[in-house]
Amino acid sequence: YPLNYFNLPLHYRDDLKSVLIPYGLVQDRIEALASRIFSDLHIHIPEQLICMCVLKGGYRFFSDLVSKIQNENRLRNDRSLPMSLEFIRVRSYVNDRSTDAIDIIGISDLSSLNNKHLLIIEDIIDTGVTMVALKKELEKYNPKTIHVVSLFTKRRKDKKCIFKPDYSGFEVPDHFIVGYALDYNEYFRDLEHICVMKESGITKYKVQDGDKVE
Ligand code: 5GP
Ligand code: MG
Ligand code: MG
Repeated sequence: YPLNYFNLPLHYRDDLKSVLIPYGLVQDRIEALASRIFSDLHIHIPEQLICMCVLKGGYRFFSDLVSKIQNENRLRNDRSLPMSLEFIRVRSYVNDRSTDAIDIIGISDLSSLNNKHLLIIEDIIDTGVTMVALKKELEKYNPKTIHVVSLFTKRRKDKKCIFKPDYSGFEVPDHFIVGYALDYNEYFRDLEHICVMKESGITKYKVQDGDKVE
C-alpha cells in the first residue's frame, strides 16, 4: 500500500518504502489463528497451556494472540484453553542479517516447563536457525508437547529455511520488515503497521557488526 493511505509517525515517514500489511489486517489474521489454536489445543482443566513470548519482537503478537484466545474462552461453554504466560529473550540479528550466534536469555524459570504443554509465540521465521536453537534449548526442560506459532514466515529467495512452524500468520516476501514490535536495530518497534524500509532508512540506522540486537 502507498504510504499516504496511512497515518505514519513523523519520525519514520522518510525511512519507509511501503506498508506491507496494515495493522487491521494483522488483527484479523490473529483472530483466525486464535480460533485455530483454540480448537486444536484446548486442554482439560486444570492443565494449562504455557504461552511463551519470544522477546522483544514477539510481544505485540503475543499480547494480541493471548487476548483473542481469551475471547474464545469467554464465548465458549463446550471447551476451554487455560493459559499461563512466560517470557524468553532471544538475540541474533545484526542490521538486517541473521547471525549464527544466538543468545537465549531465560526470564522465566524454565523448570516450570516440565511435563507441560508449550506454545512458543514468535514474530518471524527467516532462516529458521533461531527457532531450531530455541526449540532444542527448551526441549531440555521436558515439556509434554511443543507447538510453534509465528506471525510471519519469509519466502526466501534461496529457499533455505530449516524450520516450519505449526501455525503461521502470513508468508512475506524476502524483504526486511519492521513495525508491530519488529525492529531494525531497536528502531521501528513503535510503528503500528508492518512496513518495508527504504534503502536510505536501512543505511541511516545501521550499526557496527558485533553489536547484537534482538
Ligand atoms: P532466523 O533465525 O529465522 O533467520 O531469524 C529469526 C529472527 O530474526 C526473528 O525472530 C526476528 O527477530 C529476526 N528477523 C528475521 N527476519 C526479520 C525481518 O524481516 N524483520 C525483522 N524486524 N526481524 C527479522
Ligand atoms: Mg524473533
Ligand atoms: Mg530484531
